[in-house]
Amino acid sequence: MEKKRIILTGDRPTGRLHIGHYVGSLRRRIELQDAGDYSKMFVFIADAQALTDNIDNPEKVRQNVIEVALDYLACGLDPGRVTLFIQSQIPELCELSFYYMDLVTVSRLQRNPTVKTEIQMRNFETSIPVGFFTYPISQAADITAFKATTVPAGEDQEPMLEQAREIVRRFNYIYGETLVEPEILLPDNAACLRLPGTDGKAKMSKSLGNSIYLAETADEVQKKIMNMYTDPGHLRVQDPGKIEGNTVFTYLDAFSRPEHFGRYLPEYVDLEELKAHYRRGGLGDVKVKRFLNAIMQETLEPIRERRKEFSRDIPAIYEMLRKGCEVAQAAAADTLDEVKRAMKINYFDDKELIEEQAKRFGN
Ligand code: ATP
Ligand code: MG
Repeated sequence: MEKKRIILTGDRPTGRLHIGHYVGSLRRRIELQDAGDYSKMFVFIADAQALTDNIDNPEKVRQNVIEVALDYLACGLDPGRVTLFIQSQIPELCELSFYYMDLVTVSRLQRNPTVKTEIQMRNFETSIPVGFFTYPISQAADITAFKATTVPAGEDQEPMLEQAREIVRRFNYIYGETLVEPEILLPDNAACLRLPGTDGKAKMSKSLGNSIYLAETADEVQKKIMNMYTDPGHLRVQDPGKIEGNTVFTYLDAFSRPEHFGRYLPEYVDLEELKAHYRRGGLGDVKVKRFLNAIMQETLEPIRERRKEFSRDIPAIYEMLRKGCEVAQAAAADTLDEVKRAMKINYFDDKELIEEQAKRFGN
């Protein structure tokens, strides 16, 4: 099979990774890695982007780089097949961002729906850091530096990819075919596009304190599940319940597989039958939550164990990341060279330019 896809994704080191990341992007990355149908795959820790809204808290970002790296390894990303790197160590990305800034207008950034929501979420109001405001541009640099064709990500990233494509099209139009237009690869299960938080809020997010983390102990996971938001109108077991907006069922949509019923809830054939019973009335939240807990424990247990193993040798993880940064930097430097050539800012490599001007000046 022809291998030409280049895959790239990343996460902000603002906390450990949660089950929203898992279903939104991580699980897909492992599948892609294992399928092997690509020429290169890059996964990076976006520390420079995390600093755009944590500038006064560098220690948080610094401490979470290793947490995210551990989550990656625990989930099964294999540094032998995937280049894992840290964004801030690739200066070429800053240079690309700087040139891309000329291709985007302020009003276009203001209209970016992700930027809008994230500004609201962080209560920035009028004091938005310029770096935060322009992070879609820096994301376009991250993607295009590696000529990524495919970006596995959650739905919230769609406007970012659109922005990146616009930058690519404009660059190529002005300077000639140089950059590659990326595509988002969304989860194929609707519940995973934007997994809600345990509080039922729109999105599970590290910054909202409504997350179940991959590294959490079995007890903590169980406690969070038992306290989860369900249908506030479902007061007594016999009452009919709602599935829509019921977080426990959304998580079941995201995580349950047919074999889980045989193993943990054999009185139902599948999720549809369970949902039908809940809608009819006569099925209590506790029973559904216990079922979800069994599934989550089964899913998270191996991740937790592998994480513990990897955490025994932290220096080895930094060494792996350092090597990844070298590989990534070489790739980004190649693209930056092409960009500079296309933009005609490669003075010293351009013998023709020097000769032609020398002639013109009579040397
Ligand atoms: P922060 O609050 O710091 O922005 P976050 O939890 O939103 O953190 P990111 O690092 O911004 O996490 O996102 C990393 C990746 O995980 C992106 O591809 C994003 O689409 C995906 N993702 C994050 N949260 C969810 C979610 N709740 N459901 C599905 N995908 C998600
Ligand atoms: Mg985010």
